[in-house]
Amino acid sequence: MDLGLAGKKALVCAASKGLGRSCAMALAQEGVDLVIVARTPGPLEETADQIAKETGVSVQTVAVDITTPEGRKTALALCPTPDILVNNAGGPPPGNFRDWERDDWIAAVDQNMLTPIELIKATVDGMIERRFGRIVNITSSAVKAPIDVLGLSNGARTGLTGFVAGVARTTVQHNVTINNLLPGPFDTDRLKSIVKMRAGAQGMSEEEAAAQLKASNPAGRFGDPDEFGAACAFLCSAKSGFITGQNFLIDGGAYPGTF
Ligand code: NAD
Repeated sequence: MDLGLAGKKALVCAASKGLGRSCAMALAQEGVDLVIVARTPGPLEETADQIAKETGVSVQTVAVDITTPEGRKTALALCPTPDILVNNAGGPPPGNFRDWERDDWIAAVDQNMLTPIELIKATVDGMIERRFGRIVNITSSAVKAPIDVLGLSNGARTGLTGFVAGVARTTVQHNVTINNLLPGPFDTDRLKSIVKMRAGAQGMSEEEAAAQLKASNPAGRFGDPDEFGAACAFLCSAKSGFITGQNFLIDGGAYPGTF
């Protein structure tokens, strides 16, 4: 299928590794020029070089913390009029809500709710004027099936989800869609660190902890980040202008509900 994306421009946040990187790569494979953002210049440049070499598109980099106003300003200065915006950042730490103070909540809301909202605010009206825009927010399966120790993530990401549900219905008439992708367990550095933590806590090897987690998923495995990137590219495609305000769970069937 031709996704109709050749020559478009995307701003992809938190894209030197993991799911953000896979989204960037999948878009580049469709001929989309990229501006990719991550905090650490080394891995970011490496990723940009790999994507550019493999796909031939233009890949520019911005080494900033996207959750800060200065970081967003720098990224938007390099890419003020993206056709595609992929919102992503790290996730908040796990813990017990009794230990969290106001500052912990503000940091989580800043990172996983207000940062994507600010970036949407900065780019959506230009998309509306140009009559093409695709915005994808990487959230979490925890929005649909909350995980108790991830209370900061459950709360902040659900706030974003509620915001998107409203605004996505106002932009679609201009061919600007906003959707959320909800990852379950994908084989990224973040998941590797969770596996390591579980192994330590349960006195088992990392291989055993990973095997246990895989066995608990109906697919019997972790997701491949490329599978996530492909779903993102489709949602960003010219073919998906009638899909907006949706939450797509990509979790190997782990969520047990009918809907
Ligand atoms: P990862 O650790 O593999 O990669 C994260 C990327 O984001 C890196 O490139 C890092 O440099 C960049 N980054 C992090 N914070 C940033 C910031 N403030 N500014 C700029 N760049 C930043 O993580 P991942 O597994 O790809 O996860 C991506 C998102 O998806 C996270 O929010 C995570 O909580 C969520 N998530 C992941 C999984 C999973 O299984 N991997 C499951 C549910 C939710």
